[in-house]
Amino acid sequence: MVSGPSGVGKSSVIDGVLSSIDARFSVSATTRSPRRGEIDGEDYWFVDHEEFTELAGSGGMLEWAEYGGYRYGTPRAPVVETLKAGAHVVLDIENDGAHQVQRAHPGAVLVFLMPPSRDELERRLRARGDTSEADIERRLAVADEQMLDAREHYDHLVVNDDLESAISQVVSILEGPAIPGGDSAASPHTGSGAPTRSNTE
Ligand code: ADP
Ligand code: 5GP
Repeated sequence: MVSGPSGVGKSSVIDGVLSSIDARFSVSATTRSPRRGEIDGEDYWFVDHEEFTELAGSGGMLEWAEYGGYRYGTPRAPVVETLKAGAHVVLDIENDGAHQVQRAHPGAVLVFLMPPSRDELERRLRARGDTSEADIERRLAVADEQMLDAREHYDHLVVNDDLESAISQVVSILEGPAIPGGDSAASPHTGSGAPTRSNTE
């Protein structure tokens, strides 16, 4: 799984990773509205609260969590099918969800993308130009908690300073040796896996 604060560059890194390794991106479901340029079924499945609750209630989500007042979850079936086929899955999810997946698939690899600094994170979030001021403040507050949690619990921390370098570091991690005793059904190259596209936003 790939996590990281909103705006750290998860989508950019995951896009680069997916063009280098053979893995499938897990398209999450969310109750938030599409941002400019986001495509239903590609970036997210955009669903209403009722649809989300139905899917989660019927066991259709591998994990789900609330973030910024909206719900986000990983549809279970595509992940299970991909892993069964022996391929890797990359998830772009926040920390709570990543921990849920790790409990279900102990071999899943947790990669956290760190911003070079908090100021740079704020700059990138604002530069995106599609996030309201209130939303930016909420996301920055959550980022502090996520970074603390990641330092303690994640398998790998990668600083997204130079984009190409961050991509190659994540690729090396996913192509690296499996974690001994890990659940190979759940992590790419540390099995067949579950890193994230992304947190990374
Ligand atoms: P996230 O998915 O984490 O919200 P995005 O991939 O949308 O992040 O990136 C947020 C912003 O940061 C975008 O404008 C992107 O172009 C920019 N960005 C991503 N990686 C870098 C980097 N290494 N250096 C500078 N800007 C970056
Ligand atoms: P954004 O609204 O910026 O696209 O995403 C906000 C946060 O939700 C990001 O940290 C992103 O990684 C996370 N996220 C996206 N999809 C999922 C998901 O399926 N499950 C969980 N738990 N988090 C997700």
